Amino acid sequence: MSTLLKVILLGDGGVGKSSLMNRFVTNKFDSHLFHTIGVEFLNKELEVDGQHVTLQIWDTAGQERFRSLRTPFYRGSDCCLLTFSLDDGQSFSNLDNWKKEFTYYADVKDPDNFPFVVLGNKLDAPERQVSGEDVRQWCHKNGGQPYFETSAKDATNVALAFEEAVRRILALDDRADHLIHNNTVDLEKKTHPDSSCC
Ligand code: GDP
Repeated sequence: MSTLLKVILLGDGGVGKSSLMNRFVTNKFDSHLFHTIGVEFLNKELEVDGQHVTLQIWDTAGQERFRSLRTPFYRGSDCCLLTFSLDDGQSFSNLDNWKKEFTYYADVKDPDNFPFVVLGNKLDAPERQVSGEDVRQWCHKNGGQPYFETSAKDATNVALAFEEAVRRILALDDRADHLIHNNTVDLEKKTHPDSSCC
């Protein structure tokens, strides 16, 4: 049986969200992709650490004018891929806004414990504007989110990043199972007539 997991790509227009989704799902790079209007999604089945999952990947239009079209789709996301372009410093500065927009519309109560993954795309581009150290500091301040430098063009780290998204989600699920299990045990202890003896 396959678990369905919803992940959503957010970030400024032009950072490479559609290209990353396409690279991961079809293993192709097309430099003439049509612009996303609102949202689109593709499914991909994969196995991570022995677990079979179907990843439903939602790609969104980053332009301000598409805000009202994209935000209704944030709810129910299991992971958010916050994406910027390594050759565009402004797209990195805007990560805070993307995180805020997501947590507001997805109604995330505890953003530091939500599975975000940060992607710095266009690693292959010659004019790098964002240092890895600056991104790692941002991730540290924002709950220790994992960070990947990717290239949709030459496929560097793309599969790894999506697999990490799955791992983050499954790790949270494990924690939830663990808490439920522990609470059940506690409850049994509290209500068991002999609980004081052992
Ligand atoms: P989106 O608006 O965030 O979905 O961005 P797109 O996927 O439409 O990509 C915007 C532009 O950046 C297109 O011209 C892509 O061909 C180009 N692009 C996307 N990913 C990469 C990459 O990893 N490296 C390079 N050099 N260009 C990329």
